[in-house]
Amino acid sequence: GFKMGIVGLPNVGKSTLFNALTRTAAAQAANFPFCTIEPNVGEVAVPDARLDQLAGIAQSKQIIPTRMTFVDIAGLVKGASKGEGLGNQFLANIREVDAIAHVLRCFEDGDVTHVEGRVDPVSDAETIETELMLADLESLEKRLQNNVRKVRGGDKEAVQQQRLMEAAKAVLEDGKPARVVDVDEDDLKAWKLLQLLTSKPVLFVCNVGEAEAAEGNAHSAKVAEMAAAQGNSHVIISAQIEEEISQLERDEAVMFLEEMGLAEAGLDRLIRAGYELLHLETYFTVGPKEARAWTVPGGTTAPKAAGVIHGDFEKGFIRAETISFHDFVSLGGEAGAKEAGKMRAEGKSYIVKDGDVLHFLFNT
Ligand code: GDP
Repeated sequence: GFKMGIVGLPNVGKSTLFNALTRTAAAQAANFPFCTIEPNVGEVAVPDARLDQLAGIAQSKQIIPTRMTFVDIAGLVKGASKGEGLGNQFLANIREVDAIAHVLRCFEDGDVTHVEGRVDPVSDAETIETELMLADLESLEKRLQNNVRKVRGGDKEAVQQQRLMEAAKAVLEDGKPARVVDVDEDDLKAWKLLQLLTSKPVLFVCNVGEAEAAEGNAHSAKVAEMAAAQGNSHVIISAQIEEEISQLERDEAVMFLEEMGLAEAGLDRLIRAGYELLHLETYFTVGPKEARAWTVPGGTTAPKAAGVIHGDFEKGFIRAETISFHDFVSLGGEAGAKEAGKMRAEGKSYIVKDGDVLHFLFNT
């Protein structure tokens, strides 16, 4: 599965957000730095109105959304790259995630301590980014040294790694994150293996006060500006509202959102933004038993997509009977689509499209 790490300075609302996301009390929110000591891992259903629509048409007994994993990563502080606070644990956890949701405190509340004694999300973002860049630099220096012998011996992989590490080091020394390096298609795999913290895609989460959830505030506006300048995206959320919503029944939640002037829950936007950040897409399998959503990276071939369901589906792949979401809905389901000639038999080289309704045929 795909993993988003939730990071941020202590007391910015990470645990509150994580609680809301996973509707558990597992990640305890408290007005106390280092409250989340163990990484908390939660699986979250990815909201998708299309799945309900498909299930309605096919009268599926069960609806199974696709899932995404969120990891609440213990508080990073200034100096973490030198092993202060929970730094080392933090760094180990963050290496494992695919992308980063960076929570920034954009709410004013005198009762909640800010580690730096003032609310300044742009400066907070820089603090964390700096720690991550320093950690990357340090690990690169070590690895470059360890690599010297192999490079001299002409080891091809080591030479490639060397080249990529030098490129990363150069931008980091220039005060920029590793994600600004332009990586060739051929180098992508080796680049990912470097597991640089600042090469992971990042999404800024502006945690604003309850009254500001719809429009944001002056702090979140500054974050938006910063994010745009970096080519990163941001979402505005009130973690406290989200936590309240997460405890409501569905109907109540809809009413509550309307009262607050919100079109949809912030968490839905956050999860979707994470999906986009990772270039993920959804395909569906639909039948009377269940309607189910599956996640694949954009550009996935039909056999690989089948492999997400089961390895045997990929190994014995014959073809994928394919109906686009639009055709499935407008033609009233599989039978209607088939009659209209809108069910395609797609082979091994077919690139699955977001929203495809697929039925795999395979040899056992
Ligand atoms: P973490 O250390 O980043 O995980 O922060 P927590 O989620 O534990 O939140 C720290 C404190 O800030 C808790 O007392 C929360 O109730 C409070 N808090 C979180 N989000 C908000 C918010 O949007 N507004 C206000 N006023 N307080 C918040």
